[in-house]
Amino acid sequence: MAGATVDPDWHAATDPRTPPQQLADIAARRWDLHAVISAHPQAYPELRRWMAQVDPGGDHTAQAMPLTPVRRPRRGIGWWFAGCGCLAVAGVLVVVIALLGGVGAALQQDGGSRPEAGSVPAPAPEPANDAVAEQLAIFESERARYHQLVAELDGNPVAPLVTQLDFMERVEREAAVPGISEIAARSVAERAREFREELEAEVTAAEARRANASGTLTEQLVDEAGDGFIDVRWDATSACDAAGEGELTTGCVVTGDPLTIHLQSESAASGDWERRMVVAHELAHVYQHADARRFDDGKGDADRLVEQGMFQGSDEKMADCYALTYYDEHTLTNGSVTLGYGYVCNASERQAIREWAAEVNAPMPN
Ligand SMILES: [Zn+2]
Repeated sequence: MAGATVDPDWHAATDPRTPPQQLADIAARRWDLHAVISAHPQAYPELRRWMAQVDPGGDHTAQAMPLTPVRRPRRGIGWWFAGCGCLAVAGVLVVVIALLGGVGAALQQDGGSRPEAGSVPAPAPEPANDAVAEQLAIFESERARYHQLVAELDGNPVAPLVTQLDFMERVEREAAVPGISEIAARSVAERAREFREELEAEVTAAEARRANASGTLTEQLVDEAGDGFIDVRWDATSACDAAGEGELTTGCVVTGDPLTIHLQSESAASGDWERRMVVAHELAHVYQHADARRFDDGKGDADRLVEQGMFQGSDEKMADCYALTYYDEHTLTNGSVTLGYGYVCNASERQAIREWAAEVNAPMPN
C-alpha cells in the first residue's frame, strides 16, 4: 500500500543539518540506518568505527539513499559533499561501505570482541568547522595588513623584489579553495602572517635607511632612487668579482641579493661624475632584477630587449645606457677615467631605455 509513511529517524539521518549528537542517538537504536548515517557529512570517525564494529555484516547497500541538497553557506568538506548530488553521494557510500567491509573482516580475523550496543562514542566537543573559520579569519586579517603595506610601495621600482606578491597570491588561491581543511587553513594563516611580518620589517628598515646615515653622495642617490628599500655598502673589493688587469671594480649587484648595491669606497672614486655614473649603472641592475621578478618565467622586459639585440645584446651595456640616458651623457670617459663596457648607446636605444624606465617605475628625468 502506497501510504505517506514518515520515518523521522530516516529524515534526520539524511538531513545534512542534523548535528553529530543526534546522529549518534539514532545510530544507537536504528542499526538499519547505519549506512545512511555513515554517509552523513556530520558523522565523525569514532561513530563510523563504532557502527562498523557493532554490525560489520550489515547489508548497507539497501540503505543507500541520496542526501537532500540544502541551500546554505558551504562550510567544510561535509557541506561540499552535500551539494554534489546523487552520483557523488552514491560514490562516497560505496567507498564507505568498502572501508567498513575491510574493518569488519579485519576484526573477525583478529577474533576481536564486539563492543556493547548503546555505548556510542560521543562526538568531539569542537566541530572542525569552527577551527577552520578561526584560521581563515586570522588569514584575512594578516592578508589585509599585508596589502596595506604593499600599497605604501606603490610606484616604487623595487616593489616586486620587496613585496614578492606572487608568494601571497599563491596563498590566497589556497585559502579560496572550497571546503578547505583545518591543516590547510592553519598553513595559509601562518604563511600570511610570515609574509606580513617580513614586509613590515622591510618597511621599518627602509624608513631607517632613507636618512642617508653616511652623508655620502652615493648613499643619497641610492636612498632617493629606492626610497630606502635599496641598501648600499662600500665593499666592492670583497663582494664583487675581481676586474681585469689594469681595471678597478667600481661596483656590483649580486643576483642572490638584488636589493644591495656594492660600491668601492667613496674616496676611491675620481669624483662626483664617476660616483653618479657608477651608482646609475648599478641601480639599472637593481631595476633589471625587479623587472624580471614581475614575471613567472623570471624574464623581464629588459631581458627581452637585450635578447632582441638592443645594447649589443648585453645587459651590462644596457646598464651603461641607463646611466648615459639618465645624465644625458654621450661619453663614458671623463678626464683620465673611462667607465663601463665600451659602448655609448644610440638615440633609439635611449628611447627604449626611457620607455622601459616608465614601465618599471625607474626614475628618469624628462
Ligand atoms: Zn654592471
